[in-house]
Amino acid sequence: MLELAALTKLLAQPRKIVITTHHKPDGDAMGSSLGLYNYLIQQGHHAKVITPTDYPDFLAWMPGNEEVMIFTEHVAEAAVLVAEAELIFCLDFNTLSRINELGELVRVSAAVKIMIDHHLEPEDFDDYRYWDINACATAQLVYDFIVNQLGNKAMVNKDVATCLYTGIMTDSASFRLPNTTPEVHRIAADLIEAGAINWHIHELVYSNSSENRLRFLGHCLSEKLEVLYEFNTALISVNKEELEKYDVITGDTEGIVNYALSITGIRLAAFIVERTDKVKLSLRSRGEFPANEICKKYFNGGGHRNAAGGTSTDSLEEVINQFKQILPEYKKLLIQ
Ligand code: 5GP
Ligand code: MN
Repeated sequence: MLELAALTKLLAQPRKIVITTHHKPDGDAMGSSLGLYNYLIQQGHHAKVITPTDYPDFLAWMPGNEEVMIFTEHVAEAAVLVAEAELIFCLDFNTLSRINELGELVRVSAAVKIMIDHHLEPEDFDDYRYWDINACATAQLVYDFIVNQLGNKAMVNKDVATCLYTGIMTDSASFRLPNTTPEVHRIAADLIEAGAINWHIHELVYSNSSENRLRFLGHCLSEKLEVLYEFNTALISVNKEELEKYDVITGDTEGIVNYALSITGIRLAAFIVERTDKVKLSLRSRGEFPANEICKKYFNGGGHRNAAGGTSTDSLEEVINQFKQILPEYKKLLIQ
Protein backbone atom coordinates (compact mmCIF):
# COMPACT_ATOMS: atom_id res chain seq x y z
CA MET A 1 0.00 0.00 0.00
CA LEU A 2 1.10 3.51 -0.88
CA GLU A 3 1.34 6.21 1.82
CA LEU A 4 -0.54 9.47 1.38
CA ALA A 5 2.77 11.35 1.22
CA ALA A 6 3.90 9.21 -1.73
CA LEU A 7 0.57 9.72 -3.51
CA THR A 8 0.73 13.48 -2.92
CA LYS A 9 4.22 13.49 -4.41
CA LEU A 10 3.02 11.56 -7.45
CA LEU A 11 0.23 14.08 -7.96
CA ALA A 12 2.64 17.01 -7.69
CA GLN A 13 3.47 16.68 -11.40
CA PRO A 14 1.11 16.35 -14.37
CA ARG A 15 0.25 12.67 -14.82
CA LYS A 16 -1.67 10.48 -17.21
CA ILE A 17 -4.74 9.57 -15.19
CA VAL A 18 -7.76 7.39 -15.81
CA ILE A 19 -10.83 7.70 -13.60
CA THR A 20 -13.32 4.88 -13.77
CA THR A 21 -16.49 3.86 -12.00
CA HIS A 22 -19.02 1.03 -11.89
CA HIS A 23 -21.06 -0.11 -14.89
CA LYS A 24 -24.42 1.55 -15.46
CA PRO A 25 -23.12 4.56 -13.51
CA ASP A 26 -25.51 6.33 -11.17
CA GLY A 27 -25.41 9.90 -9.88
CA ASP A 28 -22.70 9.17 -7.35
CA ALA A 29 -20.59 7.28 -9.86
CA MET A 30 -20.73 10.13 -12.39
CA GLY A 31 -20.66 12.91 -9.79
CA SER A 32 -17.62 11.59 -7.95
CA SER A 33 -15.78 10.78 -11.19
CA LEU A 34 -16.39 14.14 -12.82
CA GLY A 35 -15.83 15.97 -9.52
CA LEU A 36 -12.38 14.43 -9.29
CA TYR A 37 -11.81 15.02 -13.01
CA ASN A 38 -12.58 18.72 -12.70
CA TYR A 39 -10.17 18.91 -9.78
CA LEU A 40 -7.33 17.08 -11.53
CA ILE A 41 -7.46 19.05 -14.78
CA GLN A 42 -6.96 22.28 -12.84
CA GLN A 43 -3.58 20.88 -11.85
CA GLY A 44 -2.53 20.13 -15.40
CA HIS A 45 -3.08 16.37 -15.24
CA HIS A 46 -4.18 14.53 -18.38
CA ALA A 47 -7.26 12.94 -16.91
CA LYS A 48 -9.94 10.86 -18.64
CA VAL A 49 -13.14 9.49 -17.18
CA ILE A 50 -13.92 6.08 -18.69
CA THR A 51 -17.27 4.50 -17.82
CA PRO A 52 -17.73 0.76 -18.46
CA THR A 53 -21.17 1.39 -20.03
CA ASP A 54 -23.50 4.22 -20.92
CA TYR A 55 -25.49 6.15 -18.35
CA PRO A 56 -28.83 7.99 -18.19
CA ASP A 57 -29.48 11.32 -19.91
CA PHE A 58 -30.45 12.87 -16.58
CA LEU A 59 -26.79 12.49 -15.57
CA ALA A 60 -25.29 13.59 -18.88
CA TRP A 61 -25.09 17.31 -18.15
CA MET A 62 -22.37 17.64 -15.53
CA PRO A 63 -19.29 19.77 -16.28
CA GLY A 64 -16.80 17.61 -18.20
CA ASN A 65 -19.50 15.21 -19.42
CA GLU A 66 -18.56 15.79 -23.07
CA GLU A 67 -15.07 14.43 -22.32
CA VAL A 68 -16.30 11.14 -20.82
CA MET A 69 -15.38 8.01 -22.78
CA ILE A 70 -17.83 5.11 -22.74
CA PHE A 71 -15.76 1.92 -22.84
CA THR A 72 -18.19 -0.17 -24.89
CA GLU A 73 -18.15 2.49 -27.61
CA HIS A 74 -14.35 3.02 -27.65
CA VAL A 75 -12.85 -0.30 -26.57
CA ALA A 76 -9.45 -0.02 -28.27
CA GLU A 77 -8.87 3.61 -27.37
CA ALA A 78 -9.88 3.04 -23.74
CA ALA A 79 -7.61 0.00 -23.49
CA VAL A 80 -4.63 2.12 -24.55
CA LEU A 81 -5.48 4.83 -22.02
CA VAL A 82 -5.76 2.27 -19.21
CA ALA A 83 -2.53 0.52 -20.21
CA GLU A 84 -0.60 3.80 -20.43
CA ALA A 85 -2.08 5.47 -17.35
CA GLU A 86 0.24 6.34 -14.49
CA LEU A 87 -2.63 6.49 -12.02
CA ILE A 88 -6.09 4.94 -12.13
CA PHE A 89 -8.76 6.19 -9.76
CA CYS A 90 -11.46 3.61 -9.06
CA LEU A 91 -14.51 5.38 -7.73
CA ASP A 92 -17.72 4.06 -6.20
CA PHE A 93 -16.86 0.37 -6.60
CA ASN A 94 -14.44 -1.98 -4.94
CA THR A 95 -14.39 -5.20 -6.94
CA LEU A 96 -13.13 -5.27 -10.51
CA SER A 97 -16.11 -7.36 -11.62
CA ARG A 98 -18.21 -4.17 -11.21
CA ILE A 99 -16.49 -2.61 -14.23
CA ASN A 100 -17.03 -5.55 -16.61
CA GLU A 101 -14.33 -6.12 -19.25
CA LEU A 102 -12.50 -3.00 -18.08
CA GLY A 103 -11.69 -4.91 -14.89
CA GLU A 104 -9.01 -7.12 -16.40
CA LEU A 105 -7.44 -4.16 -18.20
CA VAL A 106 -7.25 -2.26 -14.92
CA ARG A 107 -5.90 -5.30 -13.10
CA VAL A 108 -2.98 -5.77 -15.50
CA SER A 109 -2.20 -2.06 -15.92
CA ALA A 110 1.04 -0.97 -14.26
CA ALA A 111 -0.67 2.22 -13.02
CA VAL A 112 -0.91 3.10 -9.35
CA LYS A 113 -4.50 2.25 -8.42
CA ILE A 114 -6.43 4.40 -6.01
CA MET A 115 -9.75 3.19 -4.66
CA ILE A 116 -12.19 5.74 -3.25
CA ASP A 117 -15.35 3.96 -2.20
CA HIS A 118 -18.03 3.30 0.40
CA HIS A 119 -19.13 -0.28 -0.32
CA LEU A 120 -18.57 -3.30 1.89
CA GLU A 121 -15.86 -5.91 1.38
CA PRO A 122 -13.28 -4.36 -0.93
CA GLU A 123 -11.21 -6.58 -3.18
CA ASP A 124 -7.43 -6.22 -2.94
CA PHE A 125 -6.45 -4.71 -6.27
CA ASP A 126 -5.54 -1.19 -5.18
CA ASP A 127 -2.35 0.57 -4.07
CA TYR A 128 -4.02 3.35 -2.13
CA ARG A 129 -7.41 3.19 -0.47
CA TYR A 130 -9.70 5.91 0.81
CA TRP A 131 -12.63 3.83 1.94
CA ASP A 132 -15.38 4.40 4.46
CA ILE A 133 -18.64 2.48 4.51
CA ASN A 134 -20.21 5.18 6.67
CA ALA A 135 -19.89 7.77 3.93
CA CYS A 136 -23.23 8.57 2.33
CA ALA A 137 -21.63 8.82 -1.10
CA THR A 138 -18.30 8.32 -2.80
CA ALA A 139 -18.60 12.00 -3.73
CA GLN A 140 -18.40 12.79 0.01
CA LEU A 141 -15.12 10.85 0.15
CA VAL A 142 -13.78 12.60 -2.95
CA TYR A 143 -14.54 15.91 -1.22
CA ASP A 144 -12.66 14.70 1.90
CA PHE A 145 -9.83 13.43 -0.25
CA ILE A 146 -9.37 16.77 -2.01
CA VAL A 147 -9.99 18.99 1.01
CA ASN A 148 -8.58 17.04 3.95
CA GLN A 149 -6.11 14.56 2.45
CA LEU A 150 -4.66 16.74 -0.29
CA GLY A 151 -5.41 20.02 1.51
CA ASN A 152 -6.74 21.74 -1.61
CA LYS A 153 -10.10 23.24 -0.66
CA ALA A 154 -9.33 26.27 -2.82
CA MET A 155 -9.57 24.02 -5.89
CA VAL A 156 -13.15 23.01 -5.20
CA ASN A 157 -14.46 25.34 -7.88
CA LYS A 158 -17.98 25.55 -9.28
CA ASP A 159 -17.48 22.57 -11.61
CA VAL A 160 -16.04 20.32 -8.90
CA ALA A 161 -18.76 21.43 -6.48
CA THR A 162 -21.57 20.82 -8.97
CA CYS A 163 -20.47 17.25 -9.63
CA LEU A 164 -19.80 16.36 -6.01
CA TYR A 165 -23.10 17.88 -4.90
CA THR A 166 -24.87 15.71 -7.50
CA GLY A 167 -23.18 12.57 -6.14
CA ILE A 168 -24.07 13.35 -2.55
CA MET A 169 -27.63 14.38 -3.38
CA THR A 170 -28.39 11.25 -5.40
CA ASP A 171 -26.71 8.67 -3.15
CA SER A 172 -28.30 10.11 -0.01
CA ALA A 173 -31.67 10.04 -1.83
CA SER A 174 -31.88 13.83 -1.55
CA PHE A 175 -30.47 13.98 1.99
CA ARG A 176 -33.01 11.50 3.36
CA LEU A 177 -31.05 8.34 4.19
CA PRO A 178 -29.77 7.65 7.72
CA ASN A 179 -26.15 8.31 6.71
CA THR A 180 -26.99 11.95 5.95
CA THR A 181 -25.02 13.25 8.94
CA PRO A 182 -24.46 16.85 10.04
CA GLU A 183 -21.09 16.53 8.29
CA VAL A 184 -22.83 15.71 5.02
CA HIS A 185 -24.94 18.84 5.34
CA ARG A 186 -21.81 20.88 6.13
CA ILE A 187 -20.13 19.55 3.00
CA ALA A 188 -23.27 20.29 0.98
CA ALA A 189 -23.22 23.84 2.34
CA ASP A 190 -19.54 24.19 1.37
CA LEU A 191 -20.36 22.94 -2.13
CA ILE A 192 -23.21 25.43 -2.51
CA GLU A 193 -20.86 28.20 -1.37
CA ALA A 194 -18.35 27.01 -3.96
CA GLY A 195 -20.96 27.47 -6.69
CA ALA A 196 -23.16 24.37 -6.84
CA ILE A 197 -26.71 25.51 -7.54
CA ASN A 198 -28.59 23.02 -5.39
CA TRP A 199 -32.14 23.58 -6.67
CA HIS A 200 -31.03 23.53 -10.30
CA ILE A 201 -29.06 20.29 -9.84
CA HIS A 202 -32.12 18.71 -8.25
CA GLU A 203 -34.23 19.80 -11.18
CA LEU A 204 -31.75 18.52 -13.77
CA VAL A 205 -31.65 15.08 -12.14
CA TYR A 206 -35.20 14.56 -10.93
CA SER A 207 -37.35 16.68 -13.21
CA ASN A 208 -35.89 15.46 -16.45
CA SER A 209 -38.07 12.50 -17.43
CA SER A 210 -39.48 11.60 -20.81
CA GLU A 211 -43.24 11.09 -21.10
CA ASN A 212 -42.54 7.38 -21.70
CA ARG A 213 -40.67 7.09 -18.45
CA LEU A 214 -43.60 8.45 -16.49
CA ARG A 215 -46.08 6.21 -18.27
CA PHE A 216 -43.82 3.23 -17.63
CA LEU A 217 -43.73 4.14 -13.94
CA GLY A 218 -47.53 4.32 -13.99
CA HIS A 219 -47.70 0.87 -15.57
CA CYS A 220 -45.34 -0.55 -12.94
CA LEU A 221 -47.37 0.90 -10.07
CA SER A 222 -50.83 0.07 -11.33
CA GLU A 223 -50.22 -3.28 -13.06
CA LYS A 224 -47.01 -4.80 -11.75
CA LEU A 225 -46.81 -4.06 -8.05
CA GLU A 226 -47.24 -7.10 -5.83
CA VAL A 227 -47.52 -6.61 -2.09
CA LEU A 228 -46.79 -9.61 0.13
CA TYR A 229 -48.15 -8.34 3.43
CA GLU A 230 -47.26 -11.58 5.18
CA PHE A 231 -43.60 -10.67 4.71
CA ASN A 232 -43.86 -6.87 4.62
CA THR A 233 -42.38 -7.11 1.17
CA ALA A 234 -43.35 -5.49 -2.12
CA LEU A 235 -42.08 -6.30 -5.55
CA ILE A 236 -42.34 -4.98 -9.07
CA SER A 237 -41.22 -7.07 -12.01
CA VAL A 238 -41.09 -6.23 -15.70
CA ASN A 239 -40.33 -8.29 -18.75
CA LYS A 240 -38.62 -7.48 -22.04
CA GLU A 241 -41.89 -6.85 -23.88
CA GLU A 242 -42.89 -4.20 -21.37
CA LEU A 243 -39.49 -2.51 -21.68
CA GLU A 244 -39.98 -2.41 -25.42
CA LYS A 245 -43.57 -1.22 -25.25
CA TYR A 246 -42.57 1.80 -23.18
CA ASP A 247 -39.27 2.39 -25.02
CA VAL A 248 -37.41 2.07 -21.74
CA ILE A 249 -33.85 3.38 -21.95
CA THR A 250 -30.91 3.45 -19.53
CA GLY A 251 -31.95 5.17 -16.33
CA ASP A 252 -35.70 4.90 -16.83
CA THR A 253 -36.01 2.14 -14.25
CA GLU A 254 -33.96 3.93 -11.63
CA GLY A 255 -35.81 4.74 -8.44
CA ILE A 256 -38.94 2.72 -9.22
CA VAL A 257 -38.09 0.29 -6.41
CA ASN A 258 -38.37 3.14 -3.91
CA TYR A 259 -42.09 3.49 -4.62
CA ALA A 260 -42.57 -0.12 -3.52
CA LEU A 261 -40.61 0.58 -0.36
CA SER A 262 -42.70 3.66 0.40
CA ILE A 263 -45.81 1.62 1.26
CA THR A 264 -46.54 1.80 4.99
CA GLY A 265 -45.00 -1.12 6.86
CA ILE A 266 -42.98 -2.46 3.92
CA ARG A 267 -39.46 -3.41 4.97
CA LEU A 268 -38.17 -5.00 1.78
CA ALA A 269 -38.80 -3.99 -1.81
CA ALA A 270 -37.59 -5.52 -5.04
CA PHE A 271 -37.53 -4.37 -8.63
CA ILE A 272 -36.85 -7.28 -10.95
CA VAL A 273 -36.26 -6.62 -14.62
CA GLU A 274 -35.62 -8.90 -17.57
CA ARG A 275 -32.72 -7.38 -19.48
CA THR A 276 -31.44 -8.76 -22.79
CA ASP A 277 -28.79 -11.06 -21.34
CA LYS A 278 -29.85 -11.53 -17.72
CA VAL A 279 -32.34 -10.71 -15.03
CA LYS A 280 -31.37 -7.79 -12.80
CA LEU A 281 -32.62 -7.30 -9.25
CA SER A 282 -32.62 -4.10 -7.23
CA LEU A 283 -33.44 -4.49 -3.56
CA ARG A 284 -34.14 -1.80 -0.99
CA SER A 285 -34.82 -2.32 2.69
CA ARG A 286 -35.53 -0.49 5.91
CA GLY A 287 -33.58 -0.55 9.15
CA GLU A 288 -31.49 -3.58 9.96
CA PHE A 289 -32.75 -5.72 7.12
CA PRO A 290 -29.72 -6.90 5.07
CA ALA A 291 -30.75 -6.54 1.43
CA ASN A 292 -27.11 -7.03 0.43
CA GLU A 293 -27.03 -10.45 2.12
CA ILE A 294 -29.84 -11.72 -0.13
CA CYS A 295 -28.11 -10.33 -3.22
CA LYS A 296 -24.79 -11.85 -2.27
CA LYS A 297 -26.14 -15.24 -1.22
CA TYR A 298 -28.60 -15.82 -4.03
CA PHE A 299 -28.05 -13.39 -6.89
CA ASN A 300 -24.29 -12.94 -7.52
CA GLY A 301 -24.44 -9.41 -6.21
CA GLY A 302 -24.05 -7.25 -3.15
CA GLY A 303 -24.22 -3.62 -2.13
CA HIS A 304 -25.21 -1.76 1.00
CA ARG A 305 -27.47 -3.06 3.75
CA ASN A 306 -30.43 -0.98 2.58
CA ALA A 307 -29.66 -0.80 -1.15
CA ALA A 308 -28.30 -3.75 -3.03
CA GLY A 309 -28.43 -5.43 -6.39
CA GLY A 310 -27.68 -8.63 -8.20
CA THR A 311 -28.27 -10.62 -11.36
CA SER A 312 -29.34 -14.07 -12.45
CA THR A 313 -29.19 -16.05 -15.67
CA ASP A 314 -32.46 -17.84 -14.82
CA SER A 315 -35.73 -16.77 -16.40
CA LEU A 316 -37.71 -13.85 -15.00
CA GLU A 317 -40.39 -16.19 -13.61
CA GLU A 318 -37.77 -18.34 -11.93
CA VAL A 319 -36.09 -15.33 -10.35
CA ILE A 320 -39.42 -14.00 -9.06
CA ASN A 321 -40.17 -17.41 -7.54
CA GLN A 322 -36.70 -17.71 -6.03
CA PHE A 323 -37.09 -14.29 -4.48
CA LYS A 324 -40.44 -15.25 -2.95
CA GLN A 325 -39.05 -18.53 -1.67
CA ILE A 326 -36.25 -16.74 0.16
CA LEU A 327 -38.66 -14.62 2.20
CA PRO A 328 -39.65 -17.24 4.83
CA GLU A 329 -35.96 -17.49 5.82
CA TYR A 330 -36.09 -13.80 6.69
CA LYS A 331 -39.63 -13.69 8.07
CA LYS A 332 -38.57 -12.84 11.62
CA LEU A 333 -36.57 -9.83 10.50
CA LEU A 334 -39.31 -8.75 8.11
CA ILE A 335 -42.22 -8.79 10.51
CA GLN A 336 -40.59 -7.64 13.74
P1 5GP B 1 -29.14 -0.68 -7.89
O1 5GP B 1 -30.28 -1.39 -7.32
O2 5GP B 1 -29.36 0.80 -7.90
O3 5GP B 1 -28.64 -1.23 -9.18
O4 5GP B 1 -27.93 -0.93 -6.89
C1 5GP B 1 -28.00 -0.56 -5.56
C2 5GP B 1 -26.67 -0.78 -4.91
O5 5GP B 1 -26.37 -2.16 -4.93
C3 5GP B 1 -25.53 -0.10 -5.67
O6 5GP B 1 -25.13 1.02 -4.97
C4 5GP B 1 -24.44 -1.12 -5.69
O7 5GP B 1 -23.59 -0.86 -4.64
C5 5GP B 1 -25.07 -2.42 -5.36
N1 5GP B 1 -25.14 -3.35 -6.48
C6 5GP B 1 -26.03 -3.37 -7.50
N2 5GP B 1 -25.81 -4.38 -8.33
C7 5GP B 1 -24.74 -5.05 -7.83
C8 5GP B 1 -24.02 -6.21 -8.26
O8 5GP B 1 -24.33 -6.86 -9.25
N3 5GP B 1 -22.97 -6.57 -7.49
C9 5GP B 1 -22.60 -5.88 -6.35
N4 5GP B 1 -21.55 -6.31 -5.65
N5 5GP B 1 -23.27 -4.81 -5.94
C10 5GP B 1 -24.31 -4.38 -6.66
MN1 MN C 1 -22.18 5.41 -4.23
